[in-house]
Amino acid sequence: MSPRQRNHFESALEFVDPEIAALVASESLRQSQRLELIASENYVSAAQLEVSGSILGNTTVEGYPGARFHGPSPNADAIEQLAIARACALFNARFANVQPHSGTQANQAIFLALLRPGDTVLAMKLSAGGHFSHGEASNLSGQWFNAVHYGVRMPEGLIDYDDVERQAFQFKPKLIIAGATAYPRAIDFERFAAIARSVNAHLMVDIAHVAGLVAAGLFPHPFPHADIITSTTYKNFRGVRGGFILSNDLALAMRIDAAVCPGLQGTPLVQLMAAKAVSFHEALQPGYLRYSAQVLANARALGAALTKQGIVLVTGGTDTPFVVADLRPLAIDGAAATRRLDTLGIGANKILLPSDPEDFSQSTGLRLGVSAITTRGMGEAECGEVADIVAAALRTAGDPDAQANTVLTRRVAQLCARFPLYGGHLPP
Ligand SMILES: *Cc1c(COP(=O)(O)O)cnc(C)c1O
Repeated sequence: MSPRQRNHFESALEFVDPEIAALVASESLRQSQRLELIASENYVSAAQLEVSGSILGNTTVEGYPGARFHGPSPNADAIEQLAIARACALFNARFANVQPHSGTQANQAIFLALLRPGDTVLAMKLSAGGHFSHGEASNLSGQWFNAVHYGVRMPEGLIDYDDVERQAFQFKPKLIIAGATAYPRAIDFERFAAIARSVNAHLMVDIAHVAGLVAAGLFPHPFPHADIITSTTYKNFRGVRGGFILSNDLALAMRIDAAVCPGLQGTPLVQLMAAKAVSFHEALQPGYLRYSAQVLANARALGAALTKQGIVLVTGGTDTPFVVADLRPLAIDGAAATRRLDTLGIGANKILLPSDPEDFSQSTGLRLGVSAITTRGMGEAECGEVADIVAAALRTAGDPDAQANTVLTRRVAQLCARFPLYGGHLPP
């Protein structure tokens, strides 16, 4: 073997590309020292990290197990079949597609499978907590399809099912979408299904932010009411970055498969399908139920403690892994709040409130999620401490005091130090 070849097959990243290696190390440190309350964030297991960076990344397949475009691929087929079987077992579904590279692509595959350009879709609006891949003007789903949106009823902030029904009758959508990014309450999927059936529409439920709770039986299950479930594997579910789709009807499942590949994607990422399989396996273990129950308990503890500190929550509480704070009484907006928390080592993101215009730059809400800190091992007591820190930071956002900031920063650092990531051994 020539030195050059040895170099290609054996040299470590730190020798080949010190710049990227340094950034990975820096990100590793950042994650370990940051109190992460962004609801989309979580920490995958060491086993998932291992398989995500494995030799499976070299494997090129296209199509589905047993029917690959490039000929037989026994290991990739077995991996994808395991991922599918585990996803079906976990979510009580007959069919699963584990190839979508992301949640947005899973959703786009459903649009491609069921609609023609110009067809009507009814989904939740952004300011009520919806996701941009559900027909927002900035996304392909809103540019190529006719999207109409339902909202929430104020002042309670709960989904206005009568409005969903009214709009369904008025606009006759072919697809109705339930599920959200920042709606903190349980959703009545049976009611959605009745509305969808009455206008002959398909019902798709996107569970990206509650997939772990659904799997654990701690959030209403979209099946048997929905025709399709889409989700991300990361966020609350605690898997690698990616998406998946579930359904129960063979003809529908075949349309979905064709829409994912070759409709929308080419080769799937075999190493990430394998890591998804590991994440489904982990979610089938008893420990996952404990994790999910703790996520829900932590979210409610965080909400109760924030309320006690005088922070107003949208809907007054939560049934999900996050709470949504209304910043208007504090006279700061979402951008100022996230900047303030970031300087103290806390991650959180701004979110639109139902009263905001449909423009993210004018957000007056703040979403605080507990999936990641629960993975670190934090419980309800720590969520009380988190609420104290966050409330103090938000109250003093307009007039921060250097000494108080030092104290808050130290409290954040102490929490992170008490709950190390990856056993304190920062992975490469
Ligand atoms: C995060 C999210 C998505 C998109 O997932 P990506 O992997 O970022 O494409 C889709 N739907 C909902 C409801 C989400 O919260």
